[in-house]
Amino acid sequence: MCLFCDIAAHEHEAFIVDETERTVTFLDIAPANEGHVLIIPKLHVDSIVDMPDEYVLEMTAVARRMVKAFAKVYGAAGYGIMQNGGANCEFGHFHLHVFPRLEGDGYDWIYPEGPKEVSQAVADRLRGALKQ
Ligand SMILES: [Zn+2]
Repeated sequence: MCLFCDIAAHEHEAFIVDETERTVTFLDIAPANEGHVLIIPKLHVDSIVDMPDEYVLEMTAVARRMVKAFAKVYGAAGYGIMQNGGANCEFGHFHLHVFPRLEGDGYDWIYPEGPKEVSQAVADRLRGALKQ
């Protein structure tokens, strides 16, 4: 179905770190830092919206285990967890980036330019959407 489906089915090579009933975790080939992994569901969906709760929970649990492993292997006091979903999901298959943050590693978020409102009105708009 896609590259990540092939990796999940062991039909494409990857440096697999962990596997559970619903997930496969493997090294990102273009890591932010050594140890950077991708956790993927064994389900072809491009958004968290389409993923059953048990998959979301299992991916989160694996991410937590990876963070513990980063502390053991790299002495990493920090970590990053990121995900670009929906139309921004590379490969069209949901995946969670989890990587160790090392002191002075220079990693940073890059935010788009332009004004953004931070207000009670924004909070209320989002709160309203959650209730729908
Ligand atoms: Zn897929």
